[in-house]
Amino acid sequence: MKRLRLCVFGAVQGVGFRPFVYRLAGELKLSGWVLNGPFGVVIEADGNPEVLELFARRVLAEKPAAAVIAAAESVWLDAAGFSGFAIKASEAAAAPSAWLLPDLATCPECLAEIQDSGQRRFGYAFTNCTLCGPRFTIVTAIPYDRPNTTMRGFAMCPACRAEYENPSDRRFHAQPIACPACGPKLWLEPESAGAPIARAAELIRGGSVVAVKGIGGFLLVCDARSSAAIRELRRRKRRSAKPFAVMFPDLAAVRADCAVSELEADWLGSAAAPIVLLRRVPGGAVAAQAAPGNPCLGALLPYAPLHHLLMRRLGFPVIATSGNLSEEPIVKDNEQARLSLKGIADAFLMNDRPIARHADDSIVRLSRGRQLVLRRARGLAPLPLRVGRRLRPVLAVGAHLKSTVAVAWERQIVLSQHLGDLETAASLEAFRAAVADLRGLYGFKPEAVACDLHPDYASTRLAESMGLPVVRVQHHHAHVAAAMAEADIADPVLGLAWDGLGFGPDGTIWGGEFLRVDERGYSRLARLRPFPLPGGEAAVREPRRCALGLLYAAGMDLSRVEPLFPRNWEAAARLPGSASLAPQTSSMGRLFDGLAALLGLRRVNDFEGQAAMDLEHAIEADAGAYPFPLREGEPAVADWEPLLAAALEDFDGGTPPGVVSARFHNALAELAVAAAWRAGLPNVVLTGGVFQNAYLTERAAQRLEAAGFQAITHQRLPPNDGCIAAGQAFVAGLARTDA
Ligand code: ZN
Ligand code: ZN
Ligand code: FE
Repeated sequence: MKRLRLCVFGAVQGVGFRPFVYRLAGELKLSGWVLNGPFGVVIEADGNPEVLELFARRVLAEKPAAAVIAAAESVWLDAAGFSGFAIKASEAAAAPSAWLLPDLATCPECLAEIQDSGQRRFGYAFTNCTLCGPRFTIVTAIPYDRPNTTMRGFAMCPACRAEYENPSDRRFHAQPIACPACGPKLWLEPESAGAPIARAAELIRGGSVVAVKGIGGFLLVCDARSSAAIRELRRRKRRSAKPFAVMFPDLAAVRADCAVSELEADWLGSAAAPIVLLRRVPGGAVAAQAAPGNPCLGALLPYAPLHHLLMRRLGFPVIATSGNLSEEPIVKDNEQARLSLKGIADAFLMNDRPIARHADDSIVRLSRGRQLVLRRARGLAPLPLRVGRRLRPVLAVGAHLKSTVAVAWERQIVLSQHLGDLETAASLEAFRAAVADLRGLYGFKPEAVACDLHPDYASTRLAESMGLPVVRVQHHHAHVAAAMAEADIADPVLGLAWDGLGFGPDGTIWGGEFLRVDERGYSRLARLRPFPLPGGEAAVREPRRCALGLLYAAGMDLSRVEPLFPRNWEAAARLPGSASLAPQTSSMGRLFDGLAALLGLRRVNDFEGQAAMDLEHAIEADAGAYPFPLREGEPAVADWEPLLAAALEDFDGGTPPGVVSARFHNALAELAVAAAWRAGLPNVVLTGGVFQNAYLTERAAQRLEAAGFQAITHQRLPPNDGCIAAGQAFVAGLARTDA
């Protein structure tokens, strides 16, 4: 007889892991115990070593579907003489670091239950079990137990209590367990006769906007087939053109509007249930207004019983966009919704289950045969990233746009949900709350705080106010480090960090960077040739300003862009020559903007990155590449002037913008290969907002791999600034305390 201690690390709490172990131990007639410990699930069992080995293998192989096991370690000990198998009480710890689960979409069994009139949960919007339901958005402390969730105020009825305490029940220790007798309730505001879901469906059918309180906050819902309803929502939300996500009743309905691959269907139906970016097909039901001028649509399936019940009644796709005002955080509290969504929603489908922290819907795109997460939030946060190297405990506060917060310790980085741009007082408040929340939740005591090099970011100022040693990580270094952490790469890499804007140590604005990065730091091997940004920050919103800066830097005739400035040409034309009003940048994102403006695709952006998206969507044919030479120097310079000259010559000669765009994208892919040969490093990281561009990412990766290089692209972290906090945490976590 021996004793085996098995520690299972990962997202294993709140998914029915302990009852599963209990049943398996019973089947194999083993004695011992299982508990939720500070680091995950701990199991000890007495028995014959061969049976124990089989037990350990089966624990890992047959785990509950929603469990994510990152690692397991076993230790052989002397037999303890246990009798029977017990589920022990959870262990709290001084510094709890157990992994929390993200919110899980409704499982098939719960879905069947709410549709079966013979069941006591028939039509119940808050049905869940150990395999599904809210997690991260209801937990208030670790360990994950009912008193530590926002369900603590709901006393279980005898029927729920019996299920909760029965080890063979699907709801054994399902912390958010609820039923119509004892759980959260729905109501509609303003009050009206009839069942709330039926009434909300009627309103949506009639063209109204209904704010629906879901898992991570309020969603604004209206008929996606109706141009008038969508236009009205855009007007009220002050969001003129940015695409809206669309929730479909089921997969068949998605297929009527979009092309869906098998992998895309898997993601749509996954427990994470993110928004998946899909290509639209002609003849679909969804109005063009949902995503004007965009060949793609962000589609998602119902992920809570409430959505299933509502969508079943409607039977048609609806807009499902975050309940907020333009770029503010998604609203999660009832009172807050009544105040801030008053002018947007005609009615509110409310409930009394409090949301502990907000979480937008995640966004995923399939690229290179795997997922590319563009927004990491509901359903994905806070699954930790396991890294190969041991990290000291650090907190990282990210950059400014698409912000996230990260904590790192031991061999993991936990990244918060997407928090949004730190542009408004409300976002800043949500950001500060998220920093405190993440620290509090994990009982986290950082040795240092990492932030961006930019002195004026609100995140930088927050880091400086914490009374901790501050580690400043250059923006593009953080981008590359995030990809290295994700791919577990310790060797030096060539990092192509191409994005909008990031502060450089020389005080200029970087954004087209070729960095050599290893665990000690980075060096700038090459950069994009700098050009002036007339009006500085204003150029982010106005691609025409980027066009002006490029023409000026190349000594080309400025009058070409005069028609793009119908009101203020004389003032605009003077800007690029001013050192103070037109800062220099090496930004690749702004090169995209400039070309989009020169090709007549867009002169002013309605939302961030719109012009670059237009340029990608314009691509017509794979038609060769413009020259994009890498000129020697310290650092070397990627000279865009020959590219620009060739592109304008084509355009003036009548070549369609779509062909010019293809040749531009292809030139960037060839530039990546040239930079890889020059750097002589086998691993090439592609990161930065520019690599949200699916065509460029796939083309560059394919060309790099054809040349024998390893192309490393993001999967679990976004390539945009949503990855910055993770990269900062990795850099600061590796740095020695005295560094
Ligand atoms: Zn379930
Ligand atoms: Zn109940
Ligand atoms: Fe960036």
